[in-house]
Amino acid sequence: MKSLVINKEDLKHNIRTIKKIAEETGRQDNHKPITIIGVVKGNGYGLDLIKYARFLIDNGIDFLAVSTVEEALKLRENKVQAKILMLSSTSIKKDVKKLIENDIILSIGSKSALEIAEELGSELNKKVKAHIKIDTGFGRYGFDYNQKKELANMLQNTKNIEVEGTFSHFSLAFYEKNEYSELQFERFMDVIEYLKENKVATGILHICNSSGFLKFKNMRLNAVRIGSAFLGRISIPNTYGLKKIAYLKSDVAEIKVVPKDCYIGYSNSYKTKRETKIAVIPCGYADGFNVREQRDMFRKRDKLRYIVRDIKDSFKDKSLYIEILNNNKYEKCKIIGRIGMYHVVADITGKNIKIGDKVKFPVSPMFVDSSIRREYLSEEQ
Ligand SMILES: *Cc1c(COP(=O)(O)O)cnc(C)c1O
Repeated sequence: MKSLVINKEDLKHNIRTIKKIAEETGRQDNHKPITIIGVVKGNGYGLDLIKYARFLIDNGIDFLAVSTVEEALKLRENKVQAKILMLSSTSIKKDVKKLIENDIILSIGSKSALEIAEELGSELNKKVKAHIKIDTGFGRYGFDYNQKKELANMLQNTKNIEVEGTFSHFSLAFYEKNEYSELQFERFMDVIEYLKENKVATGILHICNSSGFLKFKNMRLNAVRIGSAFLGRISIPNTYGLKKIAYLKSDVAEIKVVPKDCYIGYSNSYKTKRETKIAVIPCGYADGFNVREQRDMFRKRDKLRYIVRDIKDSFKDKSLYIEILNNNKYEKCKIIGRIGMYHVVADITGKNIKIGDKVKFPVSPMFVDSSIRREYLSEEQ
């Protein structure tokens, strides 16, 4: 049976690493401690929304953030008591009502969302907690950075909203050039200054996601929103010692020996060069194996760079390997033939691998089908 195995020690290591970097910023600038907001969207980045949220809380991350109303409500239904920020602004009244009733901090990023929150605050006789979202050039949620006067005016006239924070989101923090993030930061700080000058409360300020936090010491402000760094899967060079924390586990289901010149798998793309012992393992791309993050190709020259890299790569051995547990030791085995929807074939010639042996597949947890069980383990078991 398959499962996504999450190594608790490695996950703890990543959390400690991030906390330490945040604390160091504090000490350097005589800065107040930076709040770490643990982002648990997308089924907790594939780690299971509830299990992951509880793990973060147990490790001192007591402020969480989600992207959908469903995620927010599921956390509350499962008695997760932490502070929860809904990252997306919405003007759908019944959704906002559900959020407020469940004590979720709203993101407010438009006039209509502000009006709905104000209206609901009055109907429910409640101060509505919210973070104000500023669009500094992402082009999605948020008040436009160049409409700061209107924003200040609107906020001065609200009665039922308690602004606990103001934030923005980078579109390019992972990119090797920093100009656009710097521009977004400047636009953000310009709005903040204006709000402060006009005596509008901003609450805590935040703009950094994982890459932004790690790269830009001067932009960490009062809080940072960390997702991918906890999983050790950042899209900037990992010079921080963050660990990959999970793998997909399966077992060898069948073993057989096939002759030389035998096709393996769909489309006859692989033919054995000698007599070959093969292991068939039930795990494929539908489980999330070898599914890759979408490449960001924003500029022509980046496209060109990727093409050049692909050509260079095609001269290297790009075979995929998995690890099969054999006599208490993991052995690297090469995958041959195409990866199927639910199966792969590995070359185990000369190896003493047996049916039922455990197999480790490297995966990005985010792409692992949510029907697969998540196991949090302390060590090799
Ligand atoms: C997903 C998300 C994050 C976290 O991003 P990572 O790069 O995974 O750390 C932060 N803020 C917002 C608004 C997000 O949507």
